[in-house]
This record gives sequence, structure tokens and C-alpha cells, in this order.
Amino acid sequence: MPDQPTTPVPQPALPPGVSIDQFRDAGKQLVDFIADYWQSLAAVAAPDARPTVPPATFPVASTVAPGDLLRALPSACPETPEPWDTIMRDVPALIMPGITHWQHPSFFGFFPANASPAAILGELLSAGLGVNGMLWSTSPAATELEMRVLDWLAKLIDLPRDMMHEPADGQPSSGGSVIMGTASEGTLVALIAARHRARTCVRASSPATSTSSSGTPAYVVYTSSQAHSSVIKAAMIAGICAGPNASGVDPSIISPAPDGSHVRLVPTLDDLSIDAGALARLIDADLAAGRVPVCVVATVGTTGTLAIDDVDAIGRVCRDRAVWLHIDAAFAGCAAVCPEFRWMLHSRTPGSLESVDSLGFNPHKWLLTNFDCHCFYTRDRAALTGALSITPEYLRNANSDAGRVIDYRDWQVPLGRRFRALKLWFVLRSVGAEGLREYIRSHVRMAEVFESLVRSDTRFEVTHARDLSMVCFAPRRRDGESLDEVNARARALLTRVNATGTALLTHTVAPCTGGEPGSRSILRLAIGGTLTREAHVRNVWQTLVAVLDAS
Ligand code: PLP
Repeated sequence: MPDQPTTPVPQPALPPGVSIDQFRDAGKQLVDFIADYWQSLAAVAAPDARPTVPPATFPVASTVAPGDLLRALPSACPETPEPWDTIMRDVPALIMPGITHWQHPSFFGFFPANASPAAILGELLSAGLGVNGMLWSTSPAATELEMRVLDWLAKLIDLPRDMMHEPADGQPSSGGSVIMGTASEGTLVALIAARHRARTCVRASSPATSTSSSGTPAYVVYTSSQAHSSVIKAAMIAGICAGPNASGVDPSIISPAPDGSHVRLVPTLDDLSIDAGALARLIDADLAAGRVPVCVVATVGTTGTLAIDDVDAIGRVCRDRAVWLHIDAAFAGCAAVCPEFRWMLHSRTPGSLESVDSLGFNPHKWLLTNFDCHCFYTRDRAALTGALSITPEYLRNANSDAGRVIDYRDWQVPLGRRFRALKLWFVLRSVGAEGLREYIRSHVRMAEVFESLVRSDTRFEVTHARDLSMVCFAPRRRDGESLDEVNARARALLTRVNATGTALLTHTVAPCTGGEPGSRSILRLAIGGTLTREAHVRNVWQTLVAVLDAS
């Protein structure tokens, strides 16, 4: 028997650093800091709001130079503890200058990142409970709350019953849903599940598929040039393509994977939606050549111009050819809580979602839930878990072994997972379905106001039809003006407006219309911020006009 150690184990403060009692005070101060921050943002350009704190004066986009913060920070962490007050003083001094204020009411760039008090409280509780919900047994509440809030959302946007967890007519669901971090993860999981199903079918029917030297068939994924770059990235990660070609500049030129697997960009129609006829022809040609069409990724609300792929027409093509259809509805999917916007997902055709195998949208973009929160639905849970499940001994337990529970680790790429359902639960309960609908509708009404302002000034044009809360516009092309010239004017306008610090917009390029080669540079005004009011939309318009007048 080895000797027992004689010196006692040191008893440091538990936990080290900020004590639990200090946490009470520091936590209240931090909540005050965040509340003051939000109130100062909400007070910007809101003279009627009787602000309790002065309006924020900082620019929407950070103006620091690359390396500023790196130079201000020590190159190694402190050897001894620092007082909490000293640490907190560095937040306004060092961190805030490098913040681009996504919660600013005049943040109109990209798509919004929706923070709200209820969501942040959920986030805080999730962090405080410190749960890793990888298995049902590692916190049953984390799994079951997630299942229930996702079913609530499914009902709110009218998804088919077999995408819900709740049994229908006493039968267990063949589908279900999961919260992931981002739409990018959702697309990756969809591709992997789709390939798993395709592989299983190929093995079962062993048709004359063309195989590479390694003996695996060449898989093909279809999407459009308007889809988010995360589709190609997912295919790169899954080994379905090699990625953008050597130039790396034009992501529409994609190189195949070494085994011949590939992503095909399907031509689009004038409204930049996928041409379903062209899709059918591409799939048929691949089938005829012995390749295996795996998945079509369609987008409801593209990042560039919010173009909406026709889910019904694409669904029919996929169903007839047994190809997995994934819908990326990252931003626009949130609007389906309103019946009048549901057609985007449902294609105005009852039952069109019946041909969809998976679908995802981001409450962190437009449903008052802070980043990150991607809701992913599928009607084929077996394909997901078949592709993603691996069970080492140390994760085994009676309920999992008996198949009595869902272990969400099998529905995602990582093992560990945060308790994200809490923030969604807090939001859904404290805002209510009616509140969410009103929230979405108010932003769409603001976009209508902005669109009418653009249309009222002949120096501007609305470049793409608007369905939701994003307006695509540009300076109108003058007689005799070249494409390069008008594009340069658009980019200069954007730069100057953003340089005022009063608002932030971002841009895209879209193919020219009317058969003209080349693309137009376009400004995007994406409305969806938690604190945005009509006054902010009118203000950014006045800034645009003032900048144009001065140029
Ligand atoms: N898909 C679409 C249509 C998007 O607009 C975006 C981001 O704006 C993404 C995917 C990627 O989102 P995430 O950051 O959740 O991966």
C-alpha cells in the first residue's frame, strides 16, 4: 500500500476569481450596463421616447484600425488575479470602440442579429446552469424543452406534422427537429444526411453508377449562384466538391472533388430564383451519366436580394427523382409566423412542403432571439442519425440503449451542445405568437415606407421586387452611363453613407436584367432590428439623399 499523502490539498476560494457573492453585485451591474446600452441605442433619433439615458453617440460601425485592440492588450494573461472593477473598466475603454453596433436601430446591414431582453435572460440562465445537453440523460429538460419549443415553432409556421416530434394519430414521428448554432451547420447536416440516404439507396439497388478509382460513386449537389456561400462550404467539408477554383475569387466557379463529386449551380430566372426546368435537366443528365444526385439546396430569401425559390416546382423535380430537398430559409423563414408571408415557404400550393426533406431558419436573424439559434427540421430523422451517430461505451445509458429518448448529439456535428432552447422558450412565452407576428409586420411596413421613398426620387431605382423587409436599390443609371460608372457611384454612395456613422448598410451584386452581360452593384437595406422604428428608416433615407445631393 502506498503511503497516504500527509499534506492536505490546498483549499482555494471556490470558485476561483469572482466569488459567488461578488457575482451577485457584478451581475446586477452588468445587466444595468446592457440595459443602459440598449436604452441609449433606443433613444437615437427617437425624440418622442423621453429617454432615461442620453442617446448613443457612437458610430454604428466600429472605426478602429486593424491591430488597435491587439496593441492595447498585454501579450500574456495576468499571473495574479485582477479586481473585477479593473476588468470592467476595460470594457468601455478597450472593447466598446471595437464594437459594430448590431443592435443599433440604424443597423441595416447583412441580416439582423436579434438580441432581446427575454432571450438574453435565457442565455444567462443557460450559462449559469452550465448544462451540456449532448444526451437526454445529461439534462432531460434540455432535450425535452428543445423538442417542445421547436414543435411550437413548427405549428406557428405551419410545417407538416411529420417534421414535428409530437406523435400524429398515435404514431411516433419519423421526423423531428433540432436547434443548431447556424444555418451553415444545418446545410452541412442536410448534405450529410442526404448522402447517407443516397448511399443506402445506391447500395440497395446497385445500379450502374459511375464510380471513381476508389470505387465510390460521384455525388452531385444542386443549388444556385444566389444561394449562400455556406452551401458550397458545406459541400467542401463533406468532400462533395473541392471548393472555389484556383482563382478563389469567383465562387461560382467550383472545382469538383477528386472522386468527381460536384456542386452544380442551376441557372436562375429573371427574379433570381432557381429555374426548376433547368434543374430537372441537370439532374437527368447526371443520372444518365451514372452519377448520384444527392441533394438540392433551395433558398427561401437569398442573402443578396431575398429571391425566393419555388419550393413547389423544385419539390416536384426532387420527388420524381428521389433527391433530398433542403430549404435554407435563414432569414425569410421567420416571416412564416405571419399567414400572409407563409406562401414563400409553402409556394402558394397546399402540400408543397410534402416534398421537402429538411428545412432551417434562424430565429437569431428575425425572431428576437440572440445569436446563435438555427432551427432545423426534417421528416427523415433516420437519415440524420444514420449519418451522424456513433456510440462509444462512455456515452451509453439505459434510456438511450432502449431507444426511449432523443440524444441530440446524433443530430448535429459536435458532441456537446448548449441549452439554447431556454432563450427561445423565454421569447416565445413572453412575446407570444401575436407579438411575433406584429414584430415581423412592423418591419415589413417600414420597408414599404422606405421603398416608397426610393420610388419617389427619380435618381434612385428599386432593383428587385420586395416581398419582406429588405429593399434592394441603387442609383438610377444615367443616359449613356456605363455599367462600371453606375456601379462605382453605388459603391461610393454606400461608403459615404456608412462613413457618416449614422447608419450601416451593406451591398451585393446581382446579374443585370434585360439580357445585358455583367452585374449591378446594389445597396441592401435589411430592416429587422429589435430597436428599429420608422424614424430610423426615414433618417437613413435623408442621409442617402443628402450624400447624393453633395456628390
Ligand atoms: N443562408 C442564408 C440565406 C443567409 O442569409 C445566411 C446568412 O446571412 C446564411 C445561410 C448563413 O447563416 P449562418 O451564419 O446562420 O450560418
